[in-house]
Amino acid sequence: MIHDVKVFKPDKNGKLVEVSTITSTDASNIHWSNFKTDINRIPLKDPNKIHPKYQHGGIELKECAEKGCTTQVSDPRRKTCSKKCSDMRVHRKQMLAKNRRKKKKTKFICKHCGKPYMSARKNSVYCIPGCHKTTLTKG
Ligand SMILES: [Zn+2]
Ligand SMILES: [Zn+2]
Repeated sequence: MIHDVKVFKPDKNGKLVEVSTITSTDASNIHWSNFKTDINRIPLKDPNKIHPKYQHGGIELKECAEKGCTTQVSDPRRKTCSKKCSDMRVHRKQMLAKNRRKKKKTKFICKHCGKPYMSARKNSVYCIPGCHKTTLTKG
């Protein structure tokens, strides 16, 4: 809370005399004007507008990283033009990672317990390390 600010000046006799008053509204405006001019603090309200921070940085706009989308990205910090494209991109990456993991696994039959199991290793022989150990101790 900012209160009215009274401005005093000493007169001929050294006594303080009130010369003017800055109202709380004015005081508040002076206080916040520093923040208003700080371009890094300006929120990006319009997604189509270039962030002031990058407007004079000579950074060229790039196209959205999402497949099939040619919209230019207004914020150089982002790779995609919108939340929708960003979500699509993340989703597609997750699906690709899932498929890759699935493809790598091969079905094996454990040489110890005879149970079928999936393994990413090409030369897998036993379903669990326990089966391997049991076989070793038994000779
Ligand atoms: Zn896009
Ligand atoms: Zn086994």
